[in-house]
Amino acid sequence: ARAHPVESARRLSARRLLVATRNEGKLRELRTLLEGAGLQLETLASHPESADVHESGTTFDENARIKATAAARATQLWTIADDSGLEVEVLGREPGVRSARYAGVHGDDAANTAKLLRELDGKTDRRARFVCAMALANPDGEIVATAHGVCEGTITPAPRGQGGFGYDPVFVPLVFPNQTMAELDRHDKNAVSHRGQALRAFLPLLRAHLAEIR
Ligand code: IMP
Repeated sequence: ARAHPVESARRLSARRLLVATRNEGKLRELRTLLEGAGLQLETLASHPESADVHESGTTFDENARIKATAAARATQLWTIADDSGLEVEVLGREPGVRSARYAGVHGDDAANTAKLLRELDGKTDRRARFVCAMALANPDGEIVATAHGVCEGTITPAPRGQGGFGYDPVFVPLVFPNQTMAELDRHDKNAVSHRGQALRAFLPLLRAHLAEIR
């Protein structure tokens, strides 16, 4: 029997997934990672009803939950949010949840990176890690799943490479010891990155929850 038109429209809309970010770099990576998952990705750019939320949490996990819940409530869509950042060992795990606004202006990658290199000037311990927390909220804004990813590495003395975003030009992952994240092609970055790991841990959960409402 053919599906009732309203029913098939509902099924289609059930496959819509909002990515709660205005960060173009994150979005590009999540698009690549979710390719072939059969989801229609939407972003905050096409949802002005979802105002920016204050990331008041003290952990990546808390902030990912805050962002997912707020955007899902505003749009009534299934929503994933990513909160991520850089933890530098010798800086007591700073900039951490303040990574996007380390130098003062939110999202000024060049200023953030310059400040980081100044802070590490003359330091021999260059160990750092990228951390990502991801949260999935249902259209009522309830968190139904979370996942985490960590990518260990070191900070270079100077920026190298054009790819990626944020601190990528100064971060060398342990698994590709000769290249900064910004020198890796996008598939290699996704294969090793904190975001790639979190997303891969997340996919089965995402599929299970979206299947529920199909
Ligand atoms: P959020 O939007 O509050 O989660 O801030 C994330 C910030 O962490 C970004 O603005 C970057 O500075 C940094 N960051 C997160 N993920 C990455 C990455 O994959 N590469 C480089 N920097 C990243």
